[in-house]
Amino acid sequence: MSRIPSLFISHGSPMFALEPGVLGPNLQRLGASLPDLSAIVVVSPHWQTLGIRVGGVARPETIHDFGGFPEPLYALRYEPPGAPDLAADIVALLADAGLPATLDPRRGLDHGAWVPLRYLKPAADVPVVQVSLPRDMDAAGALRLGRALAPLRERGVLVIGSGSLTHNLYEFRSHVRDPEYAQAFADWVAAAVATGDDEALVGYRTRAPHAARAHPTEEHYLPLLVAAGASTPNEPRTRIPGGMTYGILSMDSFGFGLDTNATKEAA
Ligand code: ZN
Repeated sequence: MSRIPSLFISHGSPMFALEPGVLGPNLQRLGASLPDLSAIVVVSPHWQTLGIRVGGVARPETIHDFGGFPEPLYALRYEPPGAPDLAADIVALLADAGLPATLDPRRGLDHGAWVPLRYLKPAADVPVVQVSLPRDMDAAGALRLGRALAPLRERGVLVIGSGSLTHNLYEFRSHVRDPEYAQAFADWVAAAVATGDDEALVGYRTRAPHAARAHPTEEHYLPLLVAAGASTPNEPRTRIPGGMTYGILSMDSFGFGLDTNATKEAA
């Protein structure tokens, strides 16, 4: 079975489900170009837990974990099969890497998982397992989590860190529009990704321009480190253009170990 890439996908706000923008079609093309997948593993900031949890439910439900959005958003469903056996394997894999995890028998898919997956794999025919983001996880820990998940890529599993390249929701809600700072941050990250500088990505808080403004809290940045950690710095790294939504939310995403031809199509 061929080695599957890992992805960081920006999901921005839940409105991405209704507003494909630049990224939606790019994810659709990318999803269609991927090799056959045995499963998809998603780390989303919308499942924060004490310790790591791995979703082991056979039929994950669509969780509408947001309030105050237009009604059509609540009617959307994404109902792929789960993969309880793979979930149990992941618990063991994480334990071997010194990251104790617990199997969760109930949890479905939050919007950090299902919103981008509706574009990437619209048929919902690939089993999906969610892995939680521990509340106390820092950037170095997220990179370690990605490294622990890396062997799954050899088993046909697509590892996705779902977050947002910039994510200042205070500014989103108060209608601040200042794309320049958000773009400066996004460009800095893109350069660090392109050169395989994972150390810089871990140290972004002090090294990147406007880091604290782009991410008042870290949880939507950390999935980038999961995706980077699941790859090696010498694999091809590709920026997947996502545009800037609402004047401050960069939807740019990244592929790690993507096939070059697929890359050209996606861009
Ligand atoms: Zn989110």
